[in-house]
Amino acid sequence: TRVFAERIGRIEVSATMAVTAEAAKLRAQGHKLVDFGAGEPHFATPQHIKDAAIQAIHDNFTRYTVVSGIPEVRKAIVERHAADFGTDYAPEECVFTTGGKLALFNAIQVLIDHGDEVILPVPYWVSYKDIIQYAGGKVVYLETDEAENFRITADAIEAAITPRTKAIILNSPSNPAGSVVSTADLERIVRLAHARGIFLMLDECYSYLQFNGEMISGASFKEAKEHVIVLGSLSKTYAMTGWRAGYALGPKAIIAAMSKLQSQSTSSTASMVQKASLAAVAGPQECVAEMRADYIKLRDRILARLAEIPGITCTKPEGAFYVYPNVSAYLGRPGAQTAMELASRLLQEAHVVSVPGEAFGTQSHIRLSYAVSHDNVEEGLARMKQFFAKL
Ligand code: PLP
Repeated sequence: TRVFAERIGRIEVSATMAVTAEAAKLRAQGHKLVDFGAGEPHFATPQHIKDAAIQAIHDNFTRYTVVSGIPEVRKAIVERHAADFGTDYAPEECVFTTGGKLALFNAIQVLIDHGDEVILPVPYWVSYKDIIQYAGGKVVYLETDEAENFRITADAIEAAITPRTKAIILNSPSNPAGSVVSTADLERIVRLAHARGIFLMLDECYSYLQFNGEMISGASFKEAKEHVIVLGSLSKTYAMTGWRAGYALGPKAIIAAMSKLQSQSTSSTASMVQKASLAAVAGPQECVAEMRADYIKLRDRILARLAEIPGITCTKPEGAFYVYPNVSAYLGRPGAQTAMELASRLLQEAHVVSVPGEAFGTQSHIRLSYAVSHDNVEEGLARMKQFFAKL
């Protein structure tokens, strides 16, 4: 008899797991690693956010809440989004979720059926592909041009649309390359999706970590109401990865379906996390700008150090906190045939943690998260310079 359901066989454990396990082993042996692997801020969660959670516990705000999130937090989210991006969602068009990842998971589950196509630009954040496949959907990979900063264009998306296209995933600024869709292209993509009746899932997890130009949301264009679903997260914006706080904004019926799914699975997010999130979203926003300013300095520092390594080229990220250097000059040699092998050797020999590009759908890159201290950037890149010189 068969043990596992067919659907669990459609997904893989995250490709980052192998490197993480290797890194844990080295750490246990007492080695000091420079960790560019983890996709999370090095900052502590701001004090006023932590205080709100502690206060909630003292106030015995520790019971079940409404599945879709307490009205105050949903109201605060739609108001924050309105103030920053000019959108006009009602609280009923918002569901609060256990992280942005669950917002994405639930949106895909309620919209994607067997055989539905979902357009996914490459390089992509690891989880999209597996979440789509878990729902039975077919991933349609959309290659982007490294020479154009991996930027996604409306023309490329239009060319990838077929009669089976049900949704498009757009992540701007992107993980892993930090690329940003231009305002003109974003507007055209929103219009295109609306005209063809295709759902546009906007992963805005890094929207507050955009480094130049106007911060925009595809949800602010007037054609966005029926077909755009915003997937948001407090993880990166407020250094809250472990709290598991995210949300979706979109058409009322879709949000209701996502809440229904949530009512039969996780139920609401933890009650005190909702209070902390309320403090984050409705409270002072200076912390966001301060962290963003440091990420810009860190980006410039890591790009400058990467440029000192012969043969490595790197696009200039316009947001998020990753660089995605091209290491093809060092690949195809014994012991470093692939980016996967190279990342493993970088870890074993230089004690630097990176994530191989295979995890994001490309063969010639490694991803480095620079959400670390400036000292760690210097130390890690000095180790890399030595490593590549000897390779
Ligand atoms: N989307 C992207 C592009 C991400 O990089 C991440 C986290 O790494 C997420 C969504 C999910 O974040 P969370 O579930 O912590 O809100």
